[in-house]
Amino acid sequence: MNVLVINCGSSSLKYQLLDMNTEEVLAKGLAERIGNQGAVLTHEAPGQEKVKFEQAMETHKEALNILMAALVDPNHGVLKSLEEVSAIGHRVLHAGEYYSDSIIIDADVIEKTELCNEMGPLHNPANLIGIRACQELLPKVPQVAVFDTAFHQSLPAEAYMYALPYEMYEKYHVRKYGFHGTSHKFVSRAAGEVMGKNIEDLKLISCHLGNGASLCAVKNGKAIDTSMGLTPLAGLVMGTRCGDIDPAIVPFLANKGYDVAELDNIMNKKSGILGVSGVSSDFRDVEEAANAGNERAQLALDIFYYRVRTTIGAYVAAMDGVDGIIFTAGLGENSVTSRQIICDGLSYLGISLDPVANSKRGEATIISDKDSKTTVMVIPTNEELMIARDTLALAK
Ligand code: ADP
Repeated sequence: MNVLVINCGSSSLKYQLLDMNTEEVLAKGLAERIGNQGAVLTHEAPGQEKVKFEQAMETHKEALNILMAALVDPNHGVLKSLEEVSAIGHRVLHAGEYYSDSIIIDADVIEKTELCNEMGPLHNPANLIGIRACQELLPKVPQVAVFDTAFHQSLPAEAYMYALPYEMYEKYHVRKYGFHGTSHKFVSRAAGEVMGKNIEDLKLISCHLGNGASLCAVKNGKAIDTSMGLTPLAGLVMGTRCGDIDPAIVPFLANKGYDVAELDNIMNKKSGILGVSGVSSDFRDVEEAANAGNERAQLALDIFYYRVRTTIGAYVAAMDGVDGIIFTAGLGENSVTSRQIICDGLSYLGISLDPVANSKRGEATIISDKDSKTTVMVIPTNEELMIARDTLALAK
């Protein structure tokens, strides 16, 4: 069975076609600048040269048309016909409290997802455009929604409730939802395999450290706390997001003349390691600047590491212990020094890293040494594969 995985952003569309008999990627690509000038779709299949389609794409539907034509193209295609696509899995950001798992898409799922648009204004509407376009183009193919929030629906109320007046929750559904759920689910399951233990018996902390970053405490296979909140702005310091700050800073700055939209933009796009360092939102640039003696770049990294370490400490407390810590996503998978610095502050957990294992990249591996009381792992995340697995299970 071939599963097509679709991830629509506001002006982009990422896709992967997977053969689920082997879990191999048959083709993948990215359409960018949808709805703008200079729209381009880049398509690639293993063993073939990348193909670029530079043509107008008014909406995601045109991008889907181009990618579906590319999949069956006589020269660079990988399928004889689109009938070989058995199911489509969509990454969807926000399901509120409606869904705690992936689900086959019908009119009701679309309606509920739409109700969550205001909590995921950048992503949910785009995700829905992708779903509707696929329904039009391939009406007979089952489609599945895989939500970023779903894995965190197992959080207990004490972890997801904010101490605001209760009616804020009743009226407006203000609570912690958490994101990156597909990634945390994928790597926590893989960690069980890497450790050779049943996930039901493990206390794990998953550290998804990329441009967006979040931690998740996974006890006996279920998420019990996570660092993002009502929106992905909460928790850790990120590329351009501030993460947790004293909420009173918002009215304080409003009194200095900033309006709410401006503050929202500053906290989401101009803060984090970019805001503190003044150098870049990319960790590689900031690490380089820090190594060259830039003090603000070093400070930005120090704040980031400190927040990761103290959140790990909070989750050890939440689970009354920890068996394994997982590093994943761009920084977590690739930055040897970041993992070392974060773990250097966790000696109270009996952690010691194996420097040789910690220098490896690109494979799921244990990076702590034999004497370490807590297992530390690098596990490359694969959200597309997780989406395809869920899609396959439901479409079957
Ligand atoms: P997202 O999916 O949230 O956009 P990624 O998971 O792709 O983010 O992570 C991107 C981040 O990972 C970037 O800030 C980048 O600097 C960082 N990164 C990637 N490779 C390295 C590396 N070798 N060393 C340090 N940081 C890295």
